[in-house]
Amino acid sequence: MVIIKLTKRQDEILHIVKQNGPITGKEIAEKLSVSRSALRPDLAILTMSGNLDARPRVGYFFNEKYAVRRQAEKFIHQKVANFKAHPIVVEKSTSVYDAIVQLFLEDVGTLFAVDSEGLLAGVVSRKDLLRAALGTRNLQELPVTVIMTRMPNIITVFPEETLFEAAKKMIHYHVDSLPVVKEVDNQENTYLLVGRITKTTITRAYLELMEEKSD
Ligand code: ADP
Repeated sequence: MVIIKLTKRQDEILHIVKQNGPITGKEIAEKLSVSRSALRPDLAILTMSGNLDARPRVGYFFNEKYAVRRQAEKFIHQKVANFKAHPIVVEKSTSVYDAIVQLFLEDVGTLFAVDSEGLLAGVVSRKDLLRAALGTRNLQELPVTVIMTRMPNIITVFPEETLFEAAKKMIHYHVDSLPVVKEVDNQENTYLLVGRITKTTITRAYLELMEEKSD
């Protein structure tokens, strides 16, 4: 199945068939106020590409499976830049105790630790904090920098990457979120934190796109 880019006219035809199918070529032509022969190339393209099914003497049907595939295709090409959320950060000298409070206040599962210049220094997840809480008595004395996952082990994503790439990284590396970063003067492992992508971001983006009119 090949996903093709549709023209405005082809989009209109799909919409008509979706609302009215099964519908004959003649009826579609009437609705668009064009001749049957003018429509023929578009109907051929829509049928051959799988957007429409055609049955002799019955008419054209909308292909739901293809529509879902089109939506999914649309989804995977979305850029991280358009869906990233605001990152919830702590200064890397913050105590584990304060980080736990921050996690609850912000209602997130992961915090990003930054240095005084706002550069990404580490990732502190729920489990990191739980582990520290189990093994340490004085959480107010323990800085997150001791327990966080730090550079260069942080899996990051750039704003210009796609949601598909972000989703693959989260699944491959078994993490719930990714810091969205920008390079700083081409310095290795030095990144400015500009956002976050989580599994929830991906799920929400998917829902939004699926709920959009599949025209
Ligand atoms: P949770 O602790 O809620 O299971 P994660 O699965 O995201 O959350 O985290 C598991 C481990 O992976 C933690 O030790 C955390 O510090 C680390 N981690 C989380 N996100 C990243 C990331 N983007 N890059 C590298 N390590 C990460």
